[in-house]
Amino acid sequence: MSAVTIRARHVLSADASEFLSDAAVVIRGGRVFSVGPWRDVEPAGTLVEVDGVLTPGFVDAHSHLRGLPLPEQGIPPRQFESWICSLGAAAALDPADEALLATTELLQTGVTAVQGFVDAAASGDVLAGARRALSGASGSGIRALVVLGFADRALRTPEPATGEWALVPPSGPHLPVERIAEVAADWLATETPETVALGIGPVGGQWSTDALLEAIAAAAGDTRLHTHLHESRLHRGWLEGQPSPLDRLDAAGLLDARLSGAHAVHLTAPELDRIAAAGSSLVHCPVSNDALLVGTAHVSAWLERGIPAALGVDSQNTGAPDYFDVMRAAIAQSATVGTAISPAEVFAMATVGGSRALGIPGGGSIAPGAHADLLELDLEPSIEAIVESGSAAAVSRVWVAGSPVVEGGRSLVDPEPARARLRAQLAADRPDRERRLAELAPAVDLVERLAGARA
Ligand SMILES: [Zn+2]
Repeated sequence: MSAVTIRARHVLSADASEFLSDAAVVIRGGRVFSVGPWRDVEPAGTLVEVDGVLTPGFVDAHSHLRGLPLPEQGIPPRQFESWICSLGAAAALDPADEALLATTELLQTGVTAVQGFVDAAASGDVLAGARRALSGASGSGIRALVVLGFADRALRTPEPATGEWALVPPSGPHLPVERIAEVAADWLATETPETVALGIGPVGGQWSTDALLEAIAAAAGDTRLHTHLHESRLHRGWLEGQPSPLDRLDAAGLLDARLSGAHAVHLTAPELDRIAAAGSSLVHCPVSNDALLVGTAHVSAWLERGIPAALGVDSQNTGAPDYFDVMRAAIAQSATVGTAISPAEVFAMATVGGSRALGIPGGGSIAPGAHADLLELDLEPSIEAIVESGSAAAVSRVWVAGSPVVEGGRSLVDPEPARARLRAQLAADRPDRERRLAELAPAVDLVERLAGARA
């Protein structure tokens, strides 16, 4: 990779404490080689001059790589357990087109790295869909950690099919636990470009048997782990009288610095102490938590304990995603459950914390050795201004590994053909989807009633 020098009106310092005026970043081999005032750096390679503010790119640390928002399928957000149940009516769209569209839109809102959660299929070529998603994500040029999720308990029913819950239809077959080792090894051996890494994890402790958690632990090695962690109140006591998902992840040997847990809404103070001691990351998804009515995560309590904290969009955008809205939602919600987090703290979650959750060493700052994942923002040179008044419209250019991926606010890979194909798929599926939605409606309503009674 040839050298590039980006000279900007303002460049955020490595510790994010100040903006350097008339400064430059020299990039070699996709990484920051040097940074400093223009008069002090030795430019190399192609010179790119920009008018705006240069910052590290943002990290979406929890995504389902969904291109078309679910409300376009007639599946609006609602109470969590009933929403999961309603996903049973969703159309099977091409995962490559979905991931390409999702990640080009993330790039356009300043996200340079994403943690995408994809599922192993229960039959046939179990990795075909996950690999399609992987190719779509890497096609946009975004940096990605793509995590293959496993589950072996029904997703729609929060406890064994006894009593009224037995009326809820099961959510389909699961991959037998005996196959996890082979499938995980096959997945982790998938060839990827340098900007894409692979991980595995349980979709959620409550959707996993102990045997599944143990199989994942045995297959993981030093790979990154990701999971949904105590997202809704019901997840804590999913199986009455049994240990919580957190306890079971811990018992299986999955609670350590490799793990990032998404949502983490329903955790006690002692549980947060254990997570801090384990060095696991937590991913805050404020817009999603709000949309699915799961409650508000106590993020200031995470930060007080030094828990590495990141931010996730969770594919819960209703139009094109705006990462700045997620940052502002994190601040607004934090004030309602504890000490309000500051713009500097949420910016750190968006950059350094996100990089840590994805296992990107030194990521999230413009410092020598870090990946040259950068944004040009058309905003005032202050963290407060970026967080408080930023929007996707302020993102003018984006680089991943020093290569341009967004110019003039538009992804250099055109997502419109993928969007058109997805919309055509949705249109063709419409009559059948309406039948599926109608058939599932009584179960969705039943789950909402039962979950509400238990919450
Ligand atoms: Zn999720």
